[in-house]
Amino acid sequence: MRKPVIAGNWKMFKSLREAVDTALDLKPLVANANHCEVVIAPVFTALKMVADRLEGSNIRVAAQNCAIQNEEGAHTGEITPSMLKDVGCSHVIVGHSERRAFYGETDASVNLKTKAVLAAGLVAIVCVGETLDEREAGNAENIVKSELSLGLDGLTVADMDRIILAYEPVWAIGTGKTATPEQAQDMHGLIRQTVAGTRGNDVAERVRILYGGSVKPDNIATLMSQPDVDGALVGGASLDATSFAEIVNYR
Ligand code: PEP
Repeated sequence: MRKPVIAGNWKMFKSLREAVDTALDLKPLVANANHCEVVIAPVFTALKMVADRLEGSNIRVAAQNCAIQNEEGAHTGEITPSMLKDVGCSHVIVGHSERRAFYGETDASVNLKTKAVLAAGLVAIVCVGETLDEREAGNAENIVKSELSLGLDGLTVADMDRIILAYEPVWAIGTGKTATPEQAQDMHGLIRQTVAGTRGNDVAERVRILYGGSVKPDNIATLMSQPDVDGALVGGASLDATSFAEIVNYR
């Protein structure tokens, strides 16, 4: 049985005070959510204080990005996964489509970052997903397979236990257009099959595949009813503690 993961990506929102307040509001609302793992990803500047205030709770803290290497050095503006661990992170989101579209993230950098995250002993939430043009051209499956193969290149079977995959169709992110449960299931099934092809059935059966793209309190349950949907990566609807808690407590 795969334990679902519900992760909130706060993107570039919230001051330090707002982030801490939202985290503290969320804490009691999800305290009984034993059916899933709960993760929130605040901005870098709020990570330490949010992680400190959530210590002992069932909410884990993720960073939204990291450096491509885990050794400290002369890399102005970068943060290693070990530094993120040092301030209380357990997870790092890697390869979000906004980083791919606006900050030059490539499958090669996703691969390096994922390895750096694993080297620090953290869990990588690796994002894949096609654009609308790619879907309309009938290329969605090839794009996702290629992102998986390049992004996870060189990772061992053991490494895969610290990887969570997130299928986020770019056309569904922040647009209010959710993939239908069938579209999500089709792609999640393909992702699991692809993992089985390269790392074997056991790994494929264990890996959690989250869906992301306009997940809301009113669509989470149908998405979660799909056999290969093991959770959600939630953007907009995770910014409010009540709405994110409703998503976490979807059942
Ligand atoms: C995201 O940022 O990963 C995301 C899925 O955003 P939203 O839920 O707002 O579509």
